[in-house]
Formats: sequence, structure tokens, C-alpha cells
Amino acid sequence: MKADLAEIVADVCSSVEGQIGSGRVADYIPALSRVDPRKFGIAIMTCDGETVCAGDAEEPFSIQSVSKVFTLTLALERVGAPLWDRVGREPTGSAFNSIVQLEHEAGIPRNPLVNAGALVVTDTLLDGKNPSQAINDIVAFLRLRADDPAVRVDAEVAQSESETGDRNASLAHFMRSFGNLNGEVDDVLSVYFQQCAIEMSCRQLARAGLYLAHAGSDPISDEQIVSEARTRRINAIMMSCGHYDASGDFAFHVGLPGKSGVGGGILAIAPRRASIAVWSPGLNDVGNSLVGSLALERLSALTGWSVF
Ligand code: GLU
Repeated sequence: MKADLAEIVADVCSSVEGQIGSGRVADYIPALSRVDPRKFGIAIMTCDGETVCAGDAEEPFSIQSVSKVFTLTLALERVGAPLWDRVGREPTGSAFNSIVQLEHEAGIPRNPLVNAGALVVTDTLLDGKNPSQAINDIVAFLRLRADDPAVRVDAEVAQSESETGDRNASLAHFMRSFGNLNGEVDDVLSVYFQQCAIEMSCRQLARAGLYLAHAGSDPISDEQIVSEARTRRINAIMMSCGHYDASGDFAFHVGLPGKSGVGGGILAIAPRRASIAVWSPGLNDVGNSLVGSLALERLSALTGWSVF
């Protein structure tokens, strides 16, 4: 198996080689615009403990919206099913930071993986805590899941997001006006910007997502992180909502639950098989990593890991 997977990853890398550097690095968060667009990394961690990495897989990058999968896990553990009274489970068909649907839908965001929904999720993590406790909980969870105490928030990126975060502030105020945000807007935003500014490498991210590939338990430590039923649901939401308004396209081409972030990272889950992280900062028109998506499409074709 080891040689096979390593060969497959080598094939994936050569299949995207000519495209590396394409796409546009996100520049609406100024600190992200300085990332080298020619970076490309991939890490695969299988449920039986095999790891295959290639390219810039050890280099930390800004996980951005990939963090939403982990905060969703934490929020579901904390508040359980009542979370769904405050956030839906449907794809949006709109941009990740759209405000339009919120007015029609009385401040209830469509799903927890768009910005509005993630702000509600973060709000639940702030309940009874101050912002530094809440972000510490999130970072601690990721350190444990990644099995690496080096996971940290990039303070410069968090600051940059906060300076340019008018859209997210609008979403938060709007939801608060509908009674769907309990915390102070500034507190929710502070935690949200910091969670997005967490930096991790592909290797750390693939390791951190492994419980989602293994029915909610960590195959290495044997720890049950979330129930199997809840893991299925998190994966279902990643499949239907994890790639902004190109989620259908990602399901069509890759066929795996996944979550992308504007830092160019994607976490993809092959249930019962593996957790996969790719990173390439150039984004396509919808905001998903262009080369990362191509790499996952090739990987899914070669391994047959598509869930369909
Ligand atoms: N921190 C980014 C924002 O809120 C996350 C966007 C993303 O990765 O989708 O704008």
C-alpha cells in the first residue's frame, strides 16, 4: 500500500505541475496577498496510520475557513442539536460572505461553513468564556488533533483580517439585530478572525482531520472525538456546503467531503480511508484553491476514493 499511495501522490504532483502558480492569491486580506503563489503541498494520512507527503507539505499556511470544520465539531459537542435552530444545513449558492439571504431568512445563516454561519458557531464557543479563553480552546483542540503543540495563530494575519473585516462585522451586527448572536460583536469577530488566522501545514491539517475519516475516533490515539452519527453529518455538510457556491462542482469532480479556505488550503475526507490536506494559494474565481482542487480530482480518480 505504501508504495502505491506514494506512487499515486507522485502522479498527482506531476499532473498539476504545469498549473502551479495559476489562480489568484486572496488579496482582500492584505497579509495573505504576500504568500508565494507557487507553493504546493499535499499530505495524506490514512486510517491505518500511513502518511504520504509531497511538495510544501511541512510549510504552515493560513487555514482560514478550514477552521470552520473544527469549530463546528466543537460547537456540536458543546450545544448539540439545538445548534440547528440557529444555523441551517443548506448550500447557499452565494458567495462565502454574502449578506443577501440573511435578510430573507431572518438572520439564520444557511449553513455553518459560510461566514455568517461560522460566526454563529463561534458565538456558541464564546458562551460563558472570554475571547482569549474561546480562541485558546480552539487552538488547544487543533493542537491535540494535529498531535503538534506548534499549531498557533498568526497574529499578523488576524490583525490584517480585523482591519479589513467590515463585511464580517456587518454580518455579525445583522444577525445580532435578529437575536441570533448572543455575544458582543467585537468579541465574536475577534475569536473568528483568530481562528481563521491559525496556521498549519498540510501534514498537521491532514492529521487533525483524521477523526472525520474514521467515524469520529482518532485511529492513532483511539480516542472518540465525536460520535459516528455526528461525524457523518459533519461530512455531509462539508460535501454540500464546503466549497462556497462551487460545492456542487467539487462534489462532481472530486466526490469527497471537503472544506476550502481562502489561504488556498483544502481538507478533504475519504470516509474510512484517509484525511487529505492540499495547499496552493492561487484561487479560482469562486475562492477555492485552483491547483488544490485539480490535485484532489486526480487523487480521487486514481484512488477511487470518491464516496459516489
Ligand atoms: N477569514 C476569511 C473571511 O472571513 C475566511 C474566508 C474563507 O476562507 O472562506 O473573510
